[in-house]
Amino acid sequence: PHDQPNPDPSKKTLVILGTGWGSVSLLKKLDTENYNVVVVSPRNYFLFTPLLPSCTTGTIEHRSIMEPIRNFLRHKKAAVKYYEAEATKIDYERKVVVINDDSEIKGDVSSTEVPFDMLVVGVGAENATFGIPGVREHGLFLKEVGDAQRIRNRIMDCCETATFKDQDPEEVKRLLHMVVVGGGPTGVEFAGELQDFFNSDLKKWIPDIKENFHVTLVEALPNVLPMFSKQLIDYTEKTFQEETITIRTKTMVKNVTDKYIEAESVGPDGQKQLERIPYGLLVWATGNAVRPVVNDLISQIPAQKNSRRGLAVNEYLVVKGTENVWAVGDCAVANYAPTAQVAAQEGAFLARMFNNMAKTQEIQSQLAELSQAQEVAPTKEARDEIFANIKDLQKRLRRVQSINPFEYSHQGSLAYIGSDKAVADISWFAGNLASGGTITYFFWRSAYLSMCFSTRNRVLVFMDWLKAKVFGRDVSRV
Ligand code: FAD
Ligand code: NAD
Repeated sequence: PHDQPNPDPSKKTLVILGTGWGSVSLLKKLDTENYNVVVVSPRNYFLFTPLLPSCTTGTIEHRSIMEPIRNFLRHKKAAVKYYEAEATKIDYERKVVVINDDSEIKGDVSSTEVPFDMLVVGVGAENATFGIPGVREHGLFLKEVGDAQRIRNRIMDCCETATFKDQDPEEVKRLLHMVVVGGGPTGVEFAGELQDFFNSDLKKWIPDIKENFHVTLVEALPNVLPMFSKQLIDYTEKTFQEETITIRTKTMVKNVTDKYIEAESVGPDGQKQLERIPYGLLVWATGNAVRPVVNDLISQIPAQKNSRRGLAVNEYLVVKGTENVWAVGDCAVANYAPTAQVAAQEGAFLARMFNNMAKTQEIQSQLAELSQAQEVAPTKEARDEIFANIKDLQKRLRRVQSINPFEYSHQGSLAYIGSDKAVADISWFAGNLASGGTITYFFWRSAYLSMCFSTRNRVLVFMDWLKAKVFGRDVSRV
């Protein structure tokens, strides 16, 4: 009852959860005049995640890769409502989303319900820990801006503490041991960025840490970057070796304490061994897990009873077992990898589909009007003319309705591996082009620069790169 401007009752209410890759790409292309659009997300900005690893060392400042959602929404044709809140429950039967203001400042109302006719779930995923004890307490994740800031501070804290007066040599070693768990692209890119930071800045600014600073990447599988081609995996491992980053493959972390991790690996004798690896900084990058709000929705829909990794969707991204709920990105399971590329294409597909659905409804109501007019038309000429119009509209309706199912088009995989080198598997006509090295790195830079959300972001990222090159990265701890 206290809500501002009433939604237009002639339009359906479309609620979109999240402001990440999937939801924002949907909002970009959506004609907001057709629906009462409501966006709910605890994050009032879009985050360009591919450059997040660079924020952990200050190569890029985090605000350069954030775009305020308000700034973006105000350019839409029709007003979109945005609530900074977390969806804590989706009540599928009652068609409402319970939202909760989780921020520091709360008004008298901080929890309420948002009704929907149509719902898009684009809440992404949370960090997987596989229930391994100590991960949440002692490890740092790398998913959001806050995570990157925490890592940046922790790196500096470890370096400053290691140079504290009278520190024991063993303790210095531990504090300067930077351990990254998970050899997927997040772990690899972070390890590369961190080693860069050490090589180009840290060892100059704090020469005392030179002998002991060390980065180790721990991976349970036999190799890192499993989604890349064999040749690029070898190239990455070789580059890391040259950069003195240690890769520990076939090593599975089982337990984490405040000062060491316990990892199981297979020794030279083929026997499993458990070892303690002391660390100063621990970054945990072992992939995605399903968010509780998504698991709760899964439990309400019988057709989803076998969904383990997220909401199972059909080829139109409709959540199976529902008619009015769609899912995009990391929270949807459609047999594609959980990447920004997939999420963005899914979002754009939904926008096209929703725009078409609105057009369909418009044509259908025009058709209904015309057939009524035809019945009461006074002359044969008038009836013929209306009939011709009906034929035209029916043709248009068929065209609008014939939307093909979603099909993902893979453009390729790109990752930065440090020391001005990148690896790329690019889809090239029918085949694949694998390349690694410094030229690929320039390609990586220009590709990500051009993909940035806005011109403002592009300029800021470019300036950050320049700044880091000219003045070095900023090592202050805040
Ligand atoms: P997200 O982008 O994570 O967005 C989810 C949104 O939902 C956020 O706005 C969040 O605040 C919001 N939300 C969360 N919970 C709720 C809730 N309860 N209610 C409402 N809103 C909620 N992919 C690539 O293709 N290329 C890359 O180079 C690449 N690099 C990456 C680097 C890093 C460090 C990381 C972490 C990921 C990277 N990815 C990359 C993967 C990519 O970021 C994800 O696949 C992508 O973000 C998924 O998009 P999404 O919209 O599903 O989720
Ligand atoms: P991931 O799922 O790709 O990799 C996680 C790795 O952690 C796996 O290789 C797994 O074997 C390992 N692991 C799990 N448990 C472990 C344990 N206990 N001990 C040791 N190792 C363990 O995760 P990610 O790198 O965070 O990526 C998530 C998604 O985001 C992926 O789809 C990825 O493609 C995408 N992404 C893409 C890019 C890029 O394209 N440049 C960058 C970052 C992320």
